[in-house]
Amino acid sequence: MSTPVIGVLALQGDVREHLVALAEADAQARPVRRAEELAEVDGLVIPGGESTTMSKLAVAFGVLEPLRERVRAGLPTYGTCAGMIMLANKILDGREDQETVGGIDMIVRRNAFGRQNESFEAAVDFTGVDGGPVEGVFIRAPWVESVGGDVEVLATHEDHMVAVRQGQVLATSFHPELTGDHRVHRLFVDMVRGA
Ligand code: GLN
Repeated sequence: MSTPVIGVLALQGDVREHLVALAEADAQARPVRRAEELAEVDGLVIPGGESTTMSKLAVAFGVLEPLRERVRAGLPTYGTCAGMIMLANKILDGREDQETVGGIDMIVRRNAFGRQNESFEAAVDFTGVDGGPVEGVFIRAPWVESVGGDVEVLATHEDHMVAVRQGQVLATSFHPELTGDHRVHRLFVDMVRGA
């Protein structure tokens, strides 16, 4: 599998930016909206956007259960920001009826870093990414409030966990797809190749 096929969940959010970043990181990238499309990919990215809307659309498109099943079965998956929220087994400050896919034994707090106008950028040291810190773009970003014993913490910002991995599932509070630096996407593509 030298060029893995990686889907980007295309219900809502910054899908196009991830498609570009994945292609530049040597994957074959394609949008995924339906269960049949999900069945064809070697890995999946859940983009940034608005997790409450994404949750609703995942139910409406009948893709929530298939997503849960494939992630549970070991599909390499990477979520950024709203995508991180979708990969949390439990969330805080979510909407009452908000569903997640789950996959990482963590509790994620939505909008933890504040409102839209408190969005910021910061250099983030990222375990497993060589070549110096990555530029973290945080937009109404969540943080990871707590993790279970099998979760590896890959990055923190001011004592808050902002990048984590459990098995084949990776999540960041911030948006590497919005910078020209695709090292985090390369890390994920390597995870998919190794899976
Ligand atoms: N605050 C958004 C949510 O709850 C996430 C923001 C983002 O993805 N940039 O889904």
